[in-house]
Amino acid sequence: MENLTKPLIEVQDLKQHFKIKGGLFGRATQTVKAVDGVSFNIYRGETFGLVGESGSGKTTLGRTLLHLYNPTSGKIFFDGEEISKENYRNYAKKMQIIFQDPYASLNPRMTVEDIIGEALDVHKLYSTKKERRDKIIELLKLVGLNAEQAQRYPHEFSGGQRQRIGIARALAVSPEFIVCDEPVSALDVSIQAQIINMLYDMQQEMKLTYLFIAHDLAVVRQLSKRIAVMYLGNVVELTDSESLYTHSLHPYTQSLISAIPISEPSVAKTKQRIILSGEIPSPINPPSGCKFRTRCPKAESICSEKVPEFREIESGHFCACHLV
Ligand code: SF4
Repeated sequence: MENLTKPLIEVQDLKQHFKIKGGLFGRATQTVKAVDGVSFNIYRGETFGLVGESGSGKTTLGRTLLHLYNPTSGKIFFDGEEISKENYRNYAKKMQIIFQDPYASLNPRMTVEDIIGEALDVHKLYSTKKERRDKIIELLKLVGLNAEQAQRYPHEFSGGQRQRIGIARALAVSPEFIVCDEPVSALDVSIQAQIINMLYDMQQEMKLTYLFIAHDLAVVRQLSKRIAVMYLGNVVELTDSESLYTHSLHPYTQSLISAIPISEPSVAKTKQRIILSGEIPSPINPPSGCKFRTRCPKAESICSEKVPEFREIESGHFCACHLV
């Protein structure tokens, strides 16, 4: 059960800007504003969904929370304490990540036992070799694998099984918070449901808190209590899952929702799909004013002149749009 009074994770005006070489002959330095001033809280026991197209900055945001990238500016708190450049290693055991690609995120030269055992080694979570092995087998069973599979290599497993290994590795250190970075995007639809159900069961059993990142709103909805929608480095809408689906306010969210397939043919017929023109612009030189204005079907002149404020429109429902 989530505790909605005390945030486990607090993010305040977080920015992650990367310098890259660009221009003629690669001599000029350009700035990619991958995350550009984002604030939200994640409560203990909650699944907080984060959605957006590829290039929206959601993966960078997830990794910056864990200090896999040092933030450019802004603050991140864990249970009331600020995580900094100096102390972030103290939080490595409490905060873990499950990566998107189960094919690329497991070392092909290591056995499953060593992949999971590595996390136990780093944090010295056993006193004898037997205890180490017992813990690994317990973790494998927890994710639906068995002891005989411990000596195998990643290539001997299917995509779904590899993701289970990735989850076991994240759970090895008994974390409190896990960034699930598109954990099912690379898997078949039939396998996706199994992994989502497993993540849900584990959350209940171990009282975990998740940041669940995906580009697919339908997937995020299955687990998340509240959802933030990201566009070009900013959160443009944030509310509970139900409100987002029944009365989204931001034109970008509305277009994402209109793209979700409906299985009932009579309902599908009446549904209007909002098709956005063009691709998401580059975060190197984003549009002035509202960054969504180049694709927004409702854009007006004010949208190019002024950045819309991210504000609370209804209780717990935040949106950044001049027309709302
Ligand atoms: Fe569209 Fe303007 Fe609202 Fe941006 S501020 S989402 S461009 S209407």
